[in-house]
Amino acid sequence: MNILAIGAHPADVFDLSGGTLANFASQGHGVYLSIVTHGAYSHSQLLTKKDQKQAVAEIIALKRKECEEASRHIGVKETRYLEFDDEPFIPSRKMVLVLGEYVREVCPDIVITHHPKEYGHPDHPVVGELALRSLKAAERWLEGSSRVPHPIKRVYFFGTQFRGICAKLGSGVVAADFVVDVGPSIEKKKKAIAAFQSQSFQGAQYEERWVAERLDRIEGHFGFMNGLKYAEEFISLTPQIVSLLPCN
Ligand SMILES: [Zn+2]
Repeated sequence: MNILAIGAHPADVFDLSGGTLANFASQGHGVYLSIVTHGAYSHSQLLTKKDQKQAVAEIIALKRKECEEASRHIGVKETRYLEFDDEPFIPSRKMVLVLGEYVREVCPDIVITHHPKEYGHPDHPVVGELALRSLKAAERWLEGSSRVPHPIKRVYFFGTQFRGICAKLGSGVVAADFVVDVGPSIEKKKKAIAAFQSQSFQGAQYEERWVAERLDRIEGHFGFMNGLKYAEEFISLTPQIVSLLPCN
C-alpha cells in the first residue's frame, strides 16, 4: 500500500502524523511526502540582519536538509518538495496540476492532509483545499498529464489541529473518526521533530528535551483521552463501508 501525506510546511506532516506514518513504514508500506511550501517565511525571524533574498535561499536549503533527516527517521520512501512560497500561501491552477501529477506518479491508496476548515496556521486550510482539488484532478482530468487517472480510496485529515477557533471562523469542530496508537513509534517521531532545529514554538527551540515534553503534552493528551500512552487522531473524508459494524 502507498500512503501520501501532503503538508503545508516542512514540519507539518511529522508534527501531525509522524507516528502514524512511521507505523505504516515499519509494516512495509510505501510512505511518500509532498511538502507544498518551502516554509521559509513562516520563520522570518531568522531573516533579520541579512539580505532577505540570500537569507530566504539559506533557510529553504536548511529546511530541506532538516526535512530529509526527519524523513529518514520515519522511514519515508520519497519526499517531494514543491517549494511554493508560504505565509501567505496563495494557490493557483498550476499548483493544483503539479500536485495532481505527483498523486498520479505515486498512486497512493491513502492520502493524509490538512482539513480545509482547520486553523492551526492560515496556510493549512488553503493547502487542504488545494490537496482536495488536486486529488479530484488526478482522478478525472489533469491538464497536460500523460499518466493514467488515479482515484484515491481513502482521504484522512489531521485531527489534532481542530481547535475551538475553527468554530469562531464559521466551521464546526470536527471530531476524529480514528485514533492511531503511536506508542510504538514515538521515539521515531521524537527524532523526526527534533530534526527541525531551525524551528521554534512560543520561543522554544525544537531540541530533544523540548520535543519530549511536547510529545507528552500533545500526543500524550490524545493518548490519555483514548486509553493509550501516545496517539494521533484523524478525520475521514468518507464513511467506512462495511458489512458488519466493527466492535473495536
Ligand atoms: Zn504548518
